Amino acid sequence: MDEFELISRYFDRNGDMPGVVVGIGDDGAVLMPDPAKQQIQVVDTLVEGVHFPSDTHPADIAYRAVIVNLSDIAAMGGIPRWMTLALTLSDSSEQWVASFSSGLFEAADKYDVALVGGDTTSGPVTTVTVTITGEVEKGAALLRSGAKAGDGIFVTGTLGDAAAGLDLLQRGESDDFLVQRFLRPTPRITAGRALVGKANSAIDVSDGLVGDLKKLLAASGVGGEIDIDKLPISDSLRNKFSEDDQQSLALTGGDDYELCFTAREDSVKDITGITQIGSVNQSTGLTCRRSGDVVEVDDSGYRHFQ
Ligand code: ADP
Ligand code: MG
Repeated sequence: MDEFELISRYFDRNGDMPGVVVGIGDDGAVLMPDPAKQQIQVVDTLVEGVHFPSDTHPADIAYRAVIVNLSDIAAMGGIPRWMTLALTLSDSSEQWVASFSSGLFEAADKYDVALVGGDTTSGPVTTVTVTITGEVEKGAALLRSGAKAGDGIFVTGTLGDAAAGLDLLQRGESDDFLVQRFLRPTPRITAGRALVGKANSAIDVSDGLVGDLKKLLAASGVGGEIDIDKLPISDSLRNKFSEDDQQSLALTGGDDYELCFTAREDSVKDITGITQIGSVNQSTGLTCRRSGDVVEVDDSGYRHFQ
């Protein structure tokens, strides 16, 4: 099948999507942004053999390619709007593209983002680049650089599940909840929107809490302290892993796509599904305590395919 047919069959799906004046099919998309808002632009590339193993199910690759971008939009407090896809295919069959397309639109439809264009090429390995444009109220984007001494440090959801799910997959074991947390992560768009005007800073946890929180603190020019005993751990993680493993997965496991943010405690007291794990101070760097004692955490930990 030629490129034109492939695009029209598998990617040209969005009929009338809000703000899309011209979508797929012309030299470029024509979009109508909300004049009251600012735009957030994000891009992420997944490369076969680097970010996913060659035998990954194509629908899972596509889903992830969309979600990693949506998670960045969420961390900025944005509303996702439009997406483009640059797809480099190696020896992919039509069946592969069909499955890829189903995973892509599963994510896109769930989070109301319209695919408005892209590029299709061949190359030595499969490579997927997705860009997403989001919108946020003027001056309201959540930044890494806004943390202030005295803020609480919070996270959404639970930590360590995705790395645990990947670990189980690699050992040929299973736990539906943990494996789904790895294969079908939830971008915290709703939480990010709820934090606009309330949080002082935010980052999404893609590489692991410790590494990502250190980036946020450095960008803000402040220090922080977290209490390992306060990390939110899911029941599934608790049931399947030792306490040491739970803590190390929650501290350094990647791919959870939860949000880590800082805020004055009373600004976020009405927000549900978040846990305070520590606070921001005037020092530099991140201190981790367990039962009151300072512990060293190596943040290079679990970093398999992301
Ligand atoms: P051009 O040669 O002008 O760059 P193409 O022939 O590459 O155009 O693409 C034709 C149309 O199909 C364009 O609107 C482009 O955005 C869209 N497109 C190409 N590849 C993809 C893809 N993988 N996903 C979505 N849209 C695509
Ligand atoms: Mg052209």
